Amino acid sequence: MQLIRPFLTYYAPYKGLFMLDFSCAVLSGLLELGFPLAVKLFIDHLLPGQDWHLIVWAAVGLLVIYLLNAALMAIVTYWGHMLGINIETEMRRRAFDHVQKLSFSYFDNHKTGHLVARLTKDLEEIGEVAHHGPEDVFIAVMTFVGAFLVMLSVNVELALLTAIIVPASALITTRYGRRMTANFRALFGRVGAFNARIEENIGGIRVVQSFANEQHESQLFAVENAHYRSTKLEAYRLLAANASLSYLGMRLTQVIIMLAGTWFVLRGELTNGGFVGFLLLVGVFFRPLEKIAAVMEVYPKGIAGLRSYLDFLATKPDVADRPGAVELAAVKGAIRYEGVRFAYGAAAPVLNGIDLDIRAGESVAFVGPSGAGKTTLCSLLPRFYDVTGGRISIDGHDIREVRLDSLRRNIGIVQQDVFLFGGTIRENIAYGRLDASEAAILEAARRAQLDGLLAELPLGLDTVIGERGVKLSGGQKQRLAIARMFLKDPPILILDEATSALDSETEWEIQRALAALSVGRTTLIIAHRLSTIRTADRIVVVTREGIAEQGNHAELVARGGIYARMVRTQFAEADRIPA
Ligand code: ADP
Ligand code: MG
Repeated sequence: MQLIRPFLTYYAPYKGLFMLDFSCAVLSGLLELGFPLAVKLFIDHLLPGQDWHLIVWAAVGLLVIYLLNAALMAIVTYWGHMLGINIETEMRRRAFDHVQKLSFSYFDNHKTGHLVARLTKDLEEIGEVAHHGPEDVFIAVMTFVGAFLVMLSVNVELALLTAIIVPASALITTRYGRRMTANFRALFGRVGAFNARIEENIGGIRVVQSFANEQHESQLFAVENAHYRSTKLEAYRLLAANASLSYLGMRLTQVIIMLAGTWFVLRGELTNGGFVGFLLLVGVFFRPLEKIAAVMEVYPKGIAGLRSYLDFLATKPDVADRPGAVELAAVKGAIRYEGVRFAYGAAAPVLNGIDLDIRAGESVAFVGPSGAGKTTLCSLLPRFYDVTGGRISIDGHDIREVRLDSLRRNIGIVQQDVFLFGGTIRENIAYGRLDASEAAILEAARRAQLDGLLAELPLGLDTVIGERGVKLSGGQKQRLAIARMFLKDPPILILDEATSALDSETEWEIQRALAALSVGRTTLIIAHRLSTIRTADRIVVVTREGIAEQGNHAELVARGGIYARMVRTQFAEADRIPA
């Protein structure tokens, strides 16, 4: 019940369409019941009378009724599906919008494949139900009862006999139906496993080939494939048995009714027309049972899909706007961390009381061992995660009191792994500001030192860069990310190991572009190579215990602490490696 109400809310905008569809379906069902009666009338009254005029008119009348029913059936099919498609589209839209709002923590803990399944598979299952909507069940029941009443009016004994045999044979098929449902559900599980394997394989195909592990992958796949094959075979074995059994059941019923009917006719208790009409009615009586069996197969899947869909929509993002959140505007870029504590979920805390005061326009570099929490510290600023204790403020505003979109518009992040979309260079740069003009895009490219590359490319900005930008080198990707940031033009900038993956020559070039980007912005830099952060206004050494020391390069070297030791090690290493 708690599932039906939310489901019906999706029908609400289409109330009119639903009512029309429904009435047409009911009318069509009634016309279907009329046919056996018409045949009875024909044989019993028109045939003995031999009045050709009347017979032709009766035939024309019947034809008109059929035409009407054909039109009704077309309408019901089309409108029914239109209804279903509209609902499915709306549900998919809501699910996609919901994905956009979910927090980093959600994506940390859920696999992409499963999320994709939410948006495709689940909705398809629900769509099946929405298409052959609730009206199907109603009409099936209506025809079933209707056929029985008409049968009663023709001959009570025969009607009762039918009412006993038909459900008995239907019972056999429903038993199979239930096993089929279970089997189809297993099949969907297999499809999921199968898709996950393919997705992972193709995503990592470069790794597969570089290890020459194609055969190993094929073996893994063959296992899934074989599972899928056997589950599917079983599904069709059941389907075949079910189809044959229900066919047999129906024919058996007909034979029994034929024998019984003959007996009644010979005793003069049933007319010839009533006999033929009755046999036809048995067919009509059977059909809703088949439909109900089909529905019984579709509904469990739809309900399972609907349940996980509703659960999914009910997951609240961990990070969201508070009521009354204000716009963060005209940002100068003063940042303050006060007693900031943080832990990922139930894991051990990463940050235990960080205090840090960053002036507007200052450049602050974070150094320290890997895993100390530098990235975490920076990702709290755009609220990718919310602090578990203490507060962070920008220009004096607690970042939890401002609108999330305005906060993130004011912060730009350049990371080591640049994520590019599969389109053109133009689209990827314009991602920084979707309404940017051609001139602005070119200017951003120039400032990011991308103009050299653009001049070499015959298609320039319109060059397609492949999935995730595979057709670009690391340095080119990084320049693209920087161009994007020039367009975005945020007052606060986070550079998280932006050049760590590059060779030293490229690094030096990118460093210059980054230096240009940092001008006039509050900049938080995380760097691995200390040579790149020497000029920062302040260097903060972060260890697992928290902030160990801070000051500028000269001060920290003079202090002779952790930083001084790190500098010595890196230079010693540089000496050992011959240039
Ligand atoms: P750094 O950038 O200094 O190398 P990080 O901030 O990336 O360190 O990581 C700090 C700690 O938090 C590490 O122990 C890491 O395993 C953990 N961590 C980082 N990201 C996540 C995450 N998304 N979920 C759970 N733990 C994480
Ligand atoms: Mg890091």
